[in-house]
Amino acid sequence: MSAVEELDEFAHDLLWTWQPRIENLFRTIDPEQWELTRQNPVLLLNQLGEAGVTRALEREDVRTALEVARMARSDYYDRNPRFMDAKAPLVVAYFSLEFGLAECLPIYSGGLGVLAGDHLKATSDLGLPLVAVGLLYKQGFGRQEIDAAGRQVEVYSETRGSDLPVRRVEGVEVEAPIGSRAVRIGVWRAQIGRVPLYLLDTDLEANPQDLRAITDRLYVPEPDRRLRQEIVLGIGGVRALHALGLTAGVFHLNEGHSFLCAIERIRELRASRQMTLEEARLVARAGIVFTTHTPIAAGSDYFEPGLVWDHLGPYLSQVGISFDRFMDLGRQRPGDPRERLCTTYAALRLADQSVGVSRLHGAVSRRLWKDAWRGLPESQIPIGSVTNGVHMPTWIAPEIAELLRRYVGPDWWDLDGRDGRWHAVFEIPAADLWATHLALKGRLLDFSKRRAEKPRDLDVDALTIGFARRFAPYKRANLLLQDPARLTALLNNSKRPVQMLFAGKSHPADEPGKDIVAKIVELARQEPRVVFLKDYDIELAGYLVHGADVWLNNPRRFLEASGTSGMKAGANGALNVSILDGWWDEAYRPELGWAIPSGATLERPEIDDHAEAEGLYRLLEREVVPTFFDRDKDGIPPHWVEMMRASIRHTATAFSARRMVIDYFNLAYAPGARRVEQLRLLPDWGG
Ligand SMILES: *Cc1c(COP(=O)(O)O)cnc(C)c1O
Repeated sequence: MSAVEELDEFAHDLLWTWQPRIENLFRTIDPEQWELTRQNPVLLLNQLGEAGVTRALEREDVRTALEVARMARSDYYDRNPRFMDAKAPLVVAYFSLEFGLAECLPIYSGGLGVLAGDHLKATSDLGLPLVAVGLLYKQGFGRQEIDAAGRQVEVYSETRGSDLPVRRVEGVEVEAPIGSRAVRIGVWRAQIGRVPLYLLDTDLEANPQDLRAITDRLYVPEPDRRLRQEIVLGIGGVRALHALGLTAGVFHLNEGHSFLCAIERIRELRASRQMTLEEARLVARAGIVFTTHTPIAAGSDYFEPGLVWDHLGPYLSQVGISFDRFMDLGRQRPGDPRERLCTTYAALRLADQSVGVSRLHGAVSRRLWKDAWRGLPESQIPIGSVTNGVHMPTWIAPEIAELLRRYVGPDWWDLDGRDGRWHAVFEIPAADLWATHLALKGRLLDFSKRRAEKPRDLDVDALTIGFARRFAPYKRANLLLQDPARLTALLNNSKRPVQMLFAGKSHPADEPGKDIVAKIVELARQEPRVVFLKDYDIELAGYLVHGADVWLNNPRRFLEASGTSGMKAGANGALNVSILDGWWDEAYRPELGWAIPSGATLERPEIDDHAEAEGLYRLLEREVVPTFFDRDKDGIPPHWVEMMRASIRHTATAFSARRMVIDYFNLAYAPGARRVEQLRLLPDWGG
């Protein structure tokens, strides 16, 4: 392989997103272009052209960086990952409408996508046999701009496959039914270390215009467009795996979006093995794992019977399932012909293992979806939980990772949470940890000038609170604005100054959410210690979770399924100040963060916004701020640093994507693969 081809290989393996030594190769080639391309190695190389790349390779610094990148790559691939010898008989196929892997692959919108991306990275680290399936959108999720009135506007731009870290799989095309028509689907492949991600694309010349547009954009609001995307993902996805020669037995559906994958499995089994509908349903079911990610019924997709009939009528007769039975799979009250099809009910009824994304969300889900099992008491509803986790090598700052490497060990990212070596986190000298943190905070404050709606000179010595998430009303980004005088006093105490960094987008159709963006922007335009950072994305999230002192999360309780940004922050030593919701309900301990008091319980879920704002002000005024400004003779806050160590030690292990993937393996993938294999071996059903 020539060096030019080798660079191209590096650019097409997203391993660089969690191997700083590989990322550094691209940065070295052209630091300015690297930032201008939004860290897109493929676009960078395309712009340089073969002559430019050849010239770069003549430079000493580039040759050294290439040598280092080669070392990083072989360190990674030569290591025997944990599951390499697990001999799992069947491949797991992971389905999601979005994957958040890098800024330069705009096929995600937020938390669900980043979680799916982290799942793939951790799976690669562990060597689990898994392939992923999603869609390749021509336009990413809109970039956020703020207009003169302070309101969010979305700007869409088109991407070309040849400028993205993906490659077309030549010679593979499949079809999926859209009513009595068929849409042709092309397949692209992205490489995430050891894990392939197959991305489906309907923008082919063979398709009429309306079908070409199916994969235009993520999360289109119109139900008919949404259903078409779900047909392509679910039905097209299973067919694409076949066309690629991959035999998956276990299918992991994320959200109800991919529930049609289970129906296509049933169709296949019936066609290839002459099974009855019931037989096929049971065999398919044995390998279906479903994760519900939202805690409200309105978060699901709902499809009118007429729409479903128009799009899936002919297909359902091929499957051999009556339209009414199919609709009933997705109804709260089967038999009610007017009720719409809810994809979450359908997925729950088709899956053998269903889970929520934190322990508390498991309980919320058992209550929310109990009608899928009418007559069962709530405590026996078969929805469990696998708590989310984040990919630590992606989200922990390289400087903190270096401390972990030195004190815990070079394989810190691959160690079990129970491993005694983790105690060494408490041996990191306070001066080192604090200096590292201040450097990261300084980098965040510098970066904030590039993204700030109104740039400010922020103070590295002020207590810096980060708040970044989707601006949906239940997340209450404006909770601290309830009492403006008290907020001003908190920020502008001359001995103990506090500053706040906000970031987040609203869904394009969420007007109340956009009102909250406007309120925060207005505050930031007036108050020098508050900054609104535009266009929250993976890059900005990295700077924020590395550099914030405090990570604030104050949703209405029970509405945050898990929340993962707090895990990213906590693993870097930011201290969480959060409502006991989602992951924090199981992670909170007084030695590593704070719980904002909330009176809401599962039995009495009523929320008192006013009382919770009061609780938050008091917590900040009486505990958080004093602990931060309590300094020893060297200017270090001893108790704060001790909490940082506890936060890193606990969060980096218990809330890692590594732990999450192992939990899925033990709870769902391995048992599912065994069941499918046993059913396959039954003599009547043949090989
Ligand atoms: C982690 C992350 C999220 C999800 O964080 P929550 O705490 O669940 O809101 C959303 N967007 C980006 C860019 C992220 O990195």
